[in-house]
Amino acid sequence: MNSPRSDKQPEFRRPPSVDSLAQSLTGSGLPHPLLVEAARAAIAAGDPASAAARAEGIRLSLLRPVINATGVLLHTNLGRAPLGAASLGDPAAPSAAGGPAGSPADGSATAPLRYSNLEFDTRSGARGDRQAHAAGLLARLCGAEAALVVNNCAAAVTLVLGALAASRGVAVSRGELVEIGGGFRVPEIVAQSGARLTEVGTTNRTRRQDYAAALEAGDVALCLRVHQSNYRIVGFTEAPAVADLADLGVPLVVDIGSGLLDEACGWLADGPPSWLRGEPAARQTLAAGADLVTFSGDKLLGGPQAGIIAGSASLLARCARHPLARAFRAGGLVLETLQSLALTYLDRRGDDIPFWRMATRPVAELRVRAEALGVGEVCDMAATTGGGTLPGVEIPSAGIALDGDRAAALRASEVPVIARVANQRTYLDLRTVDPADDAAVAAAARRATTEPAA
Ligand SMILES: *Cc1c(COP(=O)(O)O)cnc(C)c1O
Repeated sequence: MNSPRSDKQPEFRRPPSVDSLAQSLTGSGLPHPLLVEAARAAIAAGDPASAAARAEGIRLSLLRPVINATGVLLHTNLGRAPLGAASLGDPAAPSAAGGPAGSPADGSATAPLRYSNLEFDTRSGARGDRQAHAAGLLARLCGAEAALVVNNCAAAVTLVLGALAASRGVAVSRGELVEIGGGFRVPEIVAQSGARLTEVGTTNRTRRQDYAAALEAGDVALCLRVHQSNYRIVGFTEAPAVADLADLGVPLVVDIGSGLLDEACGWLADGPPSWLRGEPAARQTLAAGADLVTFSGDKLLGGPQAGIIAGSASLLARCARHPLARAFRAGGLVLETLQSLALTYLDRRGDDIPFWRMATRPVAELRVRAEALGVGEVCDMAATTGGGTLPGVEIPSAGIALDGDRAAALRASEVPVIARVANQRTYLDLRTVDPADDAAVAAAARRATTEPAA
């Protein structure tokens, strides 16, 4: 970052004041204290001319939109499920007028102010329940008596175990003691909830009789099934069906994780895509006899980060009374987004759910778009769902390939384009790209290929 000392520029011969240097960066759109930070760091480094680059570094470190050309639909590093309506504006894009970031385009001073009936019954005037809106609709969608929304699926499982099994046993198959991404490890979640892990069966084969024996031998409060999600055990394997564990006399909780609401996919005009085969769904798992299911909001459900618990109203009432329910509860922004998503599902408008729209585009359409980019070589590709769902499952896709490793140049675009590099080629998969972004992708690819490859 050491640019040459600018002895020729008279204003920098003596270090400028932090304040005047910060003032000179106002066009970046960042709030003054962040510009002061950039100015102070530049002066401390003996390189005042680097202040603008430092301010730009701060701007680029903020949350901002990116174009996902990786072909991974639920990309853990890119916010998992893409959201439509409330799209992320660039928090500090330099505005044409140089005015403060986030001010309305029409130049008026403030955005409209709005409350909601988050916990208020407008008919009776009495206190309402934040779980009455989105959660009620999600319960209906999976055929459950009730549902509860918390921050993520890890919180959902922790709450269920804490509320229903504290200091008692939780029977889990040894084949389901899994780790799922960033720190969700079933034995640790069980321990954290205050319950006691009761391992049953073996790594590859577990039967109903193993659960029954554990129930006879000790104090087991519930049976927990965990979807293996991101890996498979193949070969000499056996696991009981959900229905086989439904009548053991203790609640059966199934952590399906991925958040598929219904195997029938009634929200898709063409029904369930073939790559979805075998994925457990909330409705069918409950119908088979599970008392509760838990799943994420931002995997196959296609919504914001959230965890959903659906099933028996009396068990959910116990969960809602537990102190962790307050600690884990979802906020109004998430509940509003989930409500709008649930209404879209009920309306069977799968094309209005970004995840399902992208996942089901015909590959021929993607090829046409790839040709129209007019840059690189049009290629068939294999997209994946990602996010720890459907391991090994590939969705036919198409996009373009560029020679060389162009990933860094693509990321440097005003809206960063995230691509995949293999064997000294850079692949841009259009399945995960909004068609509205095709022009930006083409421009970025053209720019990236005129620079020397990394
Ligand atoms: C993904 C997953 C989780 C963790 O979900 P988060 O919403 O990321 O907390 C838990 N259980 C299963 C089976 C999963 O697939």
